[in-house]
Parts: sequence; C-alpha cells; structure tokens
Amino acid sequence: MLSIPVPQPVPTLAVSGGGAFPVHRIYCVGRNYAAHTREMGFDPNREEPFFFLKPADALVASGKDIAYPPMTHDFQHEIELVVAIGEGGRAISAEQAHRHVFGYAVGLDMTRRDLQMNARKQGRPWDMGKGFDESAPCAPLIPASVCGYLERGAICLEVNGEVRQKSDIAHLIWSVPEVIQHLSRFVTLCPGDLIFTGTPEGVGPVRAGDVMEGHVDGLEDLWTTVVAPRLV
Ligand code: MN
Repeated sequence: MLSIPVPQPVPTLAVSGGGAFPVHRIYCVGRNYAAHTREMGFDPNREEPFFFLKPADALVASGKDIAYPPMTHDFQHEIELVVAIGEGGRAISAEQAHRHVFGYAVGLDMTRRDLQMNARKQGRPWDMGKGFDESAPCAPLIPASVCGYLERGAICLEVNGEVRQKSDIAHLIWSVPEVIQHLSRFVTLCPGDLIFTGTPEGVGPVRAGDVMEGHVDGLEDLWTTVVAPRLV
C-alpha cells in the first residue's frame, strides 16, 4: 500500500468579515511600477507585462512568522497589491475585468534576490528566487463589494517602524484591469486565483528579527516577522 500522505487541503486566505477564500494559483507581475523598474536596471517604457508564479502553499497568513529561507544571503521584501479572482475566464477585456475581481489584499512577494539576479543573468527561470516556502505573506481579503474597485491609494511597507517602500497604486504601469486582460490571454483564470500586481521602488533586504508592516489604503494591514532559519 502506498503510504504517501495526501497533500494538504487547498490553501485558503481569510476574508475580512468572515469566510475563507480557496487559493488556486498565485500569479505575480514583474516590474509594474516605473521607479522600481528603473531601480532593477530596466526602462519602464511600457514593456508588455510579464508573469511568474508562486505555489499556492507559499501563502502565509498575516500575523504569522516567516523563516529566513535557505540558499540565500539577500532575502528581500516587495510590498504589493493582491487581486483575488472570483469569476474565471479567458481573453477577458479590460472593460470586463472588474466583474472577475472578488477582492483585494496586501501581500509581500518575498524574494531571494541573489538567486533571482543570478537566474536573470543566465537566462534561467526565476522559480527558486521567487516561488519558495513562505514566500507569499498575505493579509485578509477585502471584498470589492466592501471596498469598491481600487484604482488609487497609498501603498507602503515599514520595516521595524521605518518606511522602506512608499508609492500609490495609481502608479501601476499596467492597471489591475489591464493585468487581468493580459494574463487571461495566456492562461484560463479561475476562481481562487491570486494576482500579485508588482512592487513599487524601495525593495531591500530583511534579516531575522525584522518586523514588516504592509499597508494599502482601504485594506487590512499585513504583519509578519522574519525569524531564524528553520532547522532541517
Ligand atoms: Mn514582485
């Protein structure tokens, strides 16, 4: 008899006000704020948006610790607006995109920057730089029926009480509807998908003991503490 345990049930994200959102896939947009695109060494002149993924079980609920991950000396924060898809579809137009949005949350696209940069240099996939254990801390979702469709508002990240990233989601190069339009040309979006929409400028390293507090106007704040690496 096989004794392999059945993988964990579907990861879920709490919904503010009650309920749990079942998470299907986590998509992320690369370089979607001009100032961050420049700090990463690229021209933000509206290159087509591009996407990568994290495993759904990389999610970590707000308030839980994340361990400093293995195989890196440059573990970095990227604060992001997260969009949750409530209704699936493919080849969705920007005009129709809002009806596919269930809600929004504050998320962190935690990154092993040294691995990502090395992969970038060698033309290799980003997965080990981006899609690792506990790489997607996320605050509870706020339904769009409560907060409306977000188009502007401050986004910021504090580390140990000091502001490290600060911008406005109005500065997204590709707006949420445009991101949904592009992504749904490549894949069928499904209920339960999350889209991390990109980070503004000011990314940088964290170390064990650091407390991160993420904020987007109108949403619930995200809290997480980096703790010592997990023992093997
Ligand atoms: Mn990112």
